[in-house]
Amino acid sequence: MVLPKFEYKKARDVADAIALYKGQKGKAVYLAGGTDLIPLIKQRLSTPSVVIDLKGIEELKSITNKDGWLEIGANVTLFELKIYPWIRDNLPAFYESLEATACETLQLRGTIGGNILQDTRCLKHNQSLEWRTSRGFCLKSNGKECNVVKGSKVCFANYCSDNAPALVTLGAELKLEGPKGERVIELTTLFTGDSLKPFSIDAGEILTYIRIPAKKTKGAYEKLRVRESMDYPLVGVAVSSVGVAAKICVGGVGLQPRLYELEDAGIETAIREIADKASSDAKPVANAVVSPAYRKKMVGVLVKRAVKRAIGEGK
Ligand SMILES: Cc1cc2nc3c(=O)[nH]c(=O)nc-3n(C[C@H](O)[C@H](O)[C@H](O)COP(=O)(O)OP(=O)(O)OC[C@H]3O[C@@H](n4cnc5c(N)ncnc54)[C@H](O)[C@@H]3O)c2cc1C
Repeated sequence: MVLPKFEYKKARDVADAIALYKGQKGKAVYLAGGTDLIPLIKQRLSTPSVVIDLKGIEELKSITNKDGWLEIGANVTLFELKIYPWIRDNLPAFYESLEATACETLQLRGTIGGNILQDTRCLKHNQSLEWRTSRGFCLKSNGKECNVVKGSKVCFANYCSDNAPALVTLGAELKLEGPKGERVIELTTLFTGDSLKPFSIDAGEILTYIRIPAKKTKGAYEKLRVRESMDYPLVGVAVSSVGVAAKICVGGVGLQPRLYELEDAGIETAIREIADKASSDAKPVANAVVSPAYRKKMVGVLVKRAVKRAIGEGK
């Protein structure tokens, strides 16, 4: 599929990127590894007139571990994070989510910033312009109704980042810098619950760093996908635990990740209750390659599996 024409600009640093964005009156998008954005542009799902490349910004490529925080620049690739020993040894949910993302070729290119800010996906939306024209445009393509749940004025596209749920269980924060200045937000507040505008970031804002409390955790990430070699999550469950308490986050199904807290991950009935609740909260629709009923059931199965593995009782 051929790319449409757009202007390409390479930012020297964060301030330069913001200045370039300001000059474009909202017609620009930021580019990092491009593994999410370029397919969207090819399919005419994103139609920027200017693409501002952030990849060359060196200051966003660092990982530092000091003063109780692991601070990761948004341009660090998933592969660099996966081979960072401190993450493997202390943040197993995050390590496993990195390992489970796409395939190694894409991990070498895709950044953590782009992974968190990837667009929501739907079987009836992530298609070519010709395909969508023949079916009629859905809400996410500025149509009048959802093409999956007929008549619905709500978009059900899934948020498919493998790493965001793991980062949520670790209490991650995001540093943003934009035309109005800098701010820090909790990752949980990034998500709007609206698949048409999934993130609470302002126009022109750049995700600069992700901060995670640098504490040793136990953890696990379980993922349902069709192809083990490379596939988006149909359900993804991350668990991180310190002491007996555990945080569980369900992603891949629905508009945003959902967080649950377990006071004592060693109590079998408590695990079962939270697995049932997560399964009941999940409301998948027919917008992925397996049935909604199967995905719903697998939410509960993966919650139990991930908690048991995180606390060392599973395989
Ligand atoms: C075949 C295939 C399989 C995939 N499988 C998976 C999978 O299993 N799991 C998964 O999680 N992902 C998957 N992906 C999606 C993607 O590869 C990853 O999410 C990757 O990490 C995206 O990072 P990127 O740097 O390429 O993002 P880009 O494509 O460059 O950017 C993604 C979005 O984030 C914005 N953005 C990027 N960086 C910044 C920043 N610093 N500040 C503000 N905005 C920014 C861009 O404007 C764009 O909207 C897959 C992609 C493909 C093509």
